[in-house]
Parts: sequence; structure tokens; C-alpha cells
Amino acid sequence: MLRIKGSALQRIIAQAERDYPHETCGLLLGKMEDTLRTVFGAYETPNANPDRKHDRYEITPEDYMKAEKKARDFGLDVVGVYHSHPDHPDRPSQFDLERAFEGLSYIILSVSKGKVVSYRSWELVEGKFVEEEILLFG
Ligand SMILES: [Zn+2]
Repeated sequence: MLRIKGSALQRIIAQAERDYPHETCGLLLGKMEDTLRTVFGAYETPNANPDRKHDRYEITPEDYMKAEKKARDFGLDVVGVYHSHPDHPDRPSQFDLERAFEGLSYIILSVSKGKVVSYRSWELVEGKFVEEEILLFG
């Protein structure tokens, strides 16, 4: 299950709408207790995909390390990844599956005509994506 601070979610939504029709991406900073991940902040990363930003995203190892450092400064960890699907549903693609790791939350936002229309969170369980509940707080 994923708990996320309302302000962090609002930031992610604004970022996804701003970057439309490109995919936006970033990392979720928070705490992990057993299967519950609590997100306090969103760390924006540039979409480093060179030529398919409309349907691919890529986070460089350097940006990932910067996010980890930022998280540690606040006593947090990277607990997930978020990205948008311009003009596509909020379900993970095969490409997303191939790059996912267990133990992280994956928020996917569907953006249509520049507006976020839905979002869901997923976690990888035994090689498959399973939807997880999103609870807002704060
Ligand atoms: Zn995707």
C-alpha cells in the first residue's frame, strides 16, 4: 500500500500536465515499513530518453543518486518511481515491466489533452505488476 502526502501528489500531477505530450518522470521520497510505503516528497528528474519522450522515460543513474542523497538528507529513502502516459491508460507497459524492481511503488498517471485524468500505483510481485491502494494524507 502507498500513502502519499497530498502536496507531493499535487506536484506530480502539475509536472505531468506541464510536460505533456512528453512523459514526465521522477522519484518518490519516503519511508518503507514492511509493505507500506509512505511518500513525503516528489523528486523531479529530467526524462533522459533521447528520442522517444512521448512514450518512454529514462532516469539516469546520476539523477537517481542525487535523489537518494536528497532523501538521505531528510532521513528518507527512494521508495518509488512516478511517470506519465500521455494519451494512454495508467497501466504499466511491457517496457515498464522490464525495468521495474520489487520493493518499489510505481505511480503511473494518464494524461489526456494536457490534463491528468487518472492515476494508479503498482508494485512488482513475483514478476508481475499488481495495483496497490493509494491513500492520501496531510
Ligand atoms: Zn510507462
